[in-house]
Amino acid sequence: LTRMLESEQFLPNETEDGHSVKLMVNTGLSLEIASSLKARVDGVGLYRTEVPFMMHQRFPSEQEQQRLYRDQLEGFAPLPVVMRTLDIGGDKDLPYFPIEEDNPFLGWRGIRVTLDHPEVLMVQLRAMLRAGEGLNNLRILLPMVSCVEEVITALKLMDRVIEELKHDGVSIERPLVGVMIEVPATLYQLDALAQLVDFFSVGSNDLTQYLLAVDRNNARVSSLYDACHPSVLRALYHVAVESNRLGIPASVCGELAGDPAGALLLTGMGYDMLSMNAPNLARVRAAIRRVSLGSARQLVEETLTQPTPALVHRHLFNRMNEWG
Ligand code: PEP
Ligand code: MG
Repeated sequence: LTRMLESEQFLPNETEDGHSVKLMVNTGLSLEIASSLKARVDGVGLYRTEVPFMMHQRFPSEQEQQRLYRDQLEGFAPLPVVMRTLDIGGDKDLPYFPIEEDNPFLGWRGIRVTLDHPEVLMVQLRAMLRAGEGLNNLRILLPMVSCVEEVITALKLMDRVIEELKHDGVSIERPLVGVMIEVPATLYQLDALAQLVDFFSVGSNDLTQYLLAVDRNNARVSSLYDACHPSVLRALYHVAVESNRLGIPASVCGELAGDPAGALLLTGMGYDMLSMNAPNLARVRAAIRRVSLGSARQLVEETLTQPTPALVHRHLFNRMNEWG
């Protein structure tokens, strides 16, 4: 079976009836830039910049960051690379920047940290923009956004960095910028957000955690943590429908996108870009190649009527079995 899946790795990611779905990879370590990876993905859907930050003894300098980012951008060019600004806090701590809080997942996380430390954000943006010079494949993603003002402030800082670079004789345009849809509040402000940015990337891991009020790392409640909870699926469907209506591209980069049944559901909902860890690519590609867009849509319709996560899973399991 593995050999069969491997042999399909260079075939198009499209449904039986030719609807194509972009398959992207989630990265963080530069080790992941293998030439074989580049040949079988459509780009990097999520580069988690906090990963290299976690492996340093202190904040990496602008030059060090620029080198790391250049490796990613060059390694995948001309394919797009979505670089997420530092997403620390919650479960991701930097040893040299400890954050002590009673409720870290509801606290100082992601863009909240970097907007409180604009110097950190600006150095990072500058390193990204300089790394992207001449390649034209950099995209920037903002994590943990919960309100429109955060996006406005981040864009202002980005424009300031671009002005400063221009002043230094480096002329760079603002790249495509996206917002992570992972805090439930953003579900109801997609229209306002779509006016500010160029794409959405749904973080189904955090969206699940925050919609269900279940800590994604707490073993005691782990049976309640389920991206296939009917409410999470409805939220994901809502984002797909609204993004299509607003004409803004939307992708999913959480674990659900790397699960074959999850990927079929997301395809049926209307997402045409899925980003996942490299080991999941083969199975997801195989699943997509074995169904039609119509049957993926029907799967969504049937699944959305299931009232419990267990029934959702049973339904998905049965359909996946039927489809082999
Ligand atoms: C997510 O929240 O789904 C996501 C992709 O980001 P992370 O897992 O890094 O929080
Ligand atoms: Mg997240």
